[in-house]
Amino acid sequence: MQYKTFIFSPFQENAYLLYDETRECIVVDPGNFSSEENAQLDSFIKENNLILKAVVNTHNHLDHIFGLKYLIDTYKVDFVCDEKEIPYIDNFKASCQAYGLNIDYDPPQPTKLIKHADIYKFGNTEIEIISVPGHSAGGVALYNKKEGLLFCGDILFNNSIGRTDLPGGNHELLLSGIKERLFTLPEETEVFSGHGPKTTIGNEKWSNPFF
Ligand SMILES: [Zn+2]
Repeated sequence: MQYKTFIFSPFQENAYLLYDETRECIVVDPGNFSSEENAQLDSFIKENNLILKAVVNTHNHLDHIFGLKYLIDTYKVDFVCDEKEIPYIDNFKASCQAYGLNIDYDPPQPTKLIKHADIYKFGNTEIEIISVPGHSAGGVALYNKKEGLLFCGDILFNNSIGRTDLPGGNHELLLSGIKERLFTLPEETEVFSGHGPKTTIGNEKWSNPFF
């Protein structure tokens, strides 16, 4: 499996496009905000002859779903997330207003739900779903065991962790989930967060100031 990182919107959100030798791909956390950013995703898919199969989200905070409606409307694919992330979709317009963004539509609802320990498949690729609530109510990390890659949204960052002061946040739950479910992965696992640079499980286990 290969991946492409995009940095989208004024929130500088990392969206990831995962693809393999079958040319099938998924988008993780589509924060594409402007028509230029939509076009960046479209061009990458087209130039690499990829077939988008689904949008699979780590969580549904506004900066991770700005581009959701565009992708679902354009490609008519599944939208996949944890059930506990649905309230954030319902609250999208209000969240946008709180940030002074005048957005007047409701994003699409999920068409498939994932939960802890599920295996999500596209092409020849298997992604293990690891539930780590605490930054949001139903946040998950997407783990490609074969390649040693973890896409964790805003659960864990390079030398930091996700904020826990938003609805559904829980600091203790986030810390224990990271310790029990992420720090038990191989230390060489590469970690791709929702913002900022990539890191590894080993780096965070030994140098993250929250632990
Ligand atoms: Zn978030």
